[in-house]
Amino acid sequence: MQNDSTPRESIRSFFEAPENKNLFSKCPFRPCLAHLHEFDAPLAHRILTHMLGHILDHRAGRVSATHSNEDIRGISQDSLNEELRYVYNDCNNAILNEARRLDPGLQPYDDPKYQGFGPEQRACYGGDARAELMAEAIHAYLQDPNYLKTVAPNVAARIRHAVNTNPNLNQIIQFN
Ligand SMILES: [Zn+2]
Repeated sequence: MQNDSTPRESIRSFFEAPENKNLFSKCPFRPCLAHLHEFDAPLAHRILTHMLGHILDHRAGRVSATHSNEDIRGISQDSLNEELRYVYNDCNNAILNEARRLDPGLQPYDDPKYQGFGPEQRACYGGDARAELMAEAIHAYLQDPNYLKTVAPNVAARIRHAVNTNPNLNQIIQFN
C-alpha cells in the first residue's frame, strides 16, 4: 500500500463499477474517493485502506445469519462488538486524538469524552454501522498490525481467518 498507484486505481474502479455503485453508500469516506488528489499522502492512504477494508469485508464475508433481513454481507462480528467499537473510537474520536497530540500516553478511559464515538455519530446505523466498524478495523490492521493485535486480538484473528482462508483473496493479500 505504500506505492499505492495500483491499489488506488483498483479500489476506485471497484466502487465505480455499475454493480457496486450503491455499495456502502452511507460510508463517510466514499465521497472522498473522487477527490483523493486533493488530500495529502497520509490522508489519501488512510481513505484507501478504509475502502480496501470494505472490499475485503464484502469479499471475505457471508450474508449475516443474525441480520439476514438486511442484505449486507460481511465478516461475522459475533462477540466482537466491544473491540470493534474500541478501535473505531480510537481512530475517529477527534477529541481523543486532539488530546493525544499533547499527551500521547493518555487512555480513552481517562475521560468520558474520549469514549463512545461510533459510526452512528456519522449517521451510519444498523448494517451500515457494522460495515464501518469492520472497514476501520481492517484499515487499522493494514496500517499497524501490532496495534490491532494488541487492542483487538479477537478482531484481528477473525479478519486473519476470513481473509487468509479465502481462496479468492489469499492470493492477493494475507494478514500476519
Ligand atoms: Zn466506510
